[in-house]
Amino acid sequence: MNSRYSTASSSGTAAGVSSLEILQRLLEANRESVIVVDASRRIIAANRAAEIAFDRQSGPMHARRLSEVIRDLQLHEAFGKALDEGASVEVKMDFIGSGRRSYDIHVSPIELDGSPHAIGVFYDVTQVERLEKVRQEFLSNISHELRTPLTSIMAFVETLEDGAIDDKENNRRFLGVIRRNAERMHELIADILELSMIESGNVSIHTKQIRPKNLVDEVFTALSSKAADREISLVNQISPGAKAQADPVRLEQMLTNLIDNAIKFNRPGGSVTLTAVESDEKASIFVTDTGEGILPDHLTRVFERFYRADRGRTREVGGTGLGLAIVKHLARLHGGEVSVTSTPSQGTVFTIELPA
Ligand code: ADP
Repeated sequence: MNSRYSTASSSGTAAGVSSLEILQRLLEANRESVIVVDASRRIIAANRAAEIAFDRQSGPMHARRLSEVIRDLQLHEAFGKALDEGASVEVKMDFIGSGRRSYDIHVSPIELDGSPHAIGVFYDVTQVERLEKVRQEFLSNISHELRTPLTSIMAFVETLEDGAIDDKENNRRFLGVIRRNAERMHELIADILELSMIESGNVSIHTKQIRPKNLVDEVFTALSSKAADREISLVNQISPGAKAQADPVRLEQMLTNLIDNAIKFNRPGGSVTLTAVESDEKASIFVTDTGEGILPDHLTRVFERFYRADRGRTREVGGTGLGLAIVKHLARLHGGEVSVTSTPSQGTVFTIELPA
């Protein structure tokens, strides 16, 4: 049996194609990894997907024992059941090759030239499982973020109901707390909806040639009272002639998020300075602040959803933890990128790069 399969010219079919060749072609047509073993658990056929997934270093799998290629007890029991009992078996397996991958495997008995064999189809579920984990984390983050202001609203409503409504000194203050927490929930839901619209591909970008200086002037106007409250000066050093290829609404949104952060995480009397550089390939816009900076450990993570470098500080200045995730997605929708460099206690520079 083995020798028949290992010599491709043997036992030609009507069309002059051997059964091994037919089997191999069928396997190659499959995107999933497929391995066929004979009764002695030796591999008689495997497709390229399987070779790539399980056997990068040690050459072709053909004629090797399954246990030499994949060491997994449950997998061997599954192939054993298929061979010895003629049963179809489903198993799960984690395989550590160039990275950790998870598989759902379906092993079935198959008779080839009158003798029992077993065929295993390996469905790679690594990505599906990763996405499921991301989804669960996202949901748990959302619930947590919404619960905090909601708990506060409920507590203050209860206090008012319990008599504080007639307390002339405090009733308005309690209403103010309720309003602020309701606004926070509103802001969070708006950002979550915005992010999920962008991530689901429902936001399209309409680029045209724009003047970044004018756009920055508009954002500065919108944020001027916030900057004044914190004694932050806003400096637009972008040349009036500078150009960029962008969707003006979306670029304004990105700049608003970055400049808003640069004001929030600044120090009183500090500044936020906007500059731009153009080349044949791209336009870069820099948002430079004189704030507290971001420690190296946090730098790579600030673009993650709900990530905050300093939770205590954010509670004080407000924010959803979603602003930079939105900026990152919008930059990528433009075919560009956003990056950050920072010197703790001196300041931070966020750079938006847009292809020309
Ligand atoms: P948030 O709504 O909290 O501002 P972002 O996604 O916009 O959420 O930012 C994530 C975190 O990155 C912030 O909580 C803050 O810790 C940090 N961060 C963002 N911009 C700056 C900045 N200019 N200076 C210092 N830290 C910053």
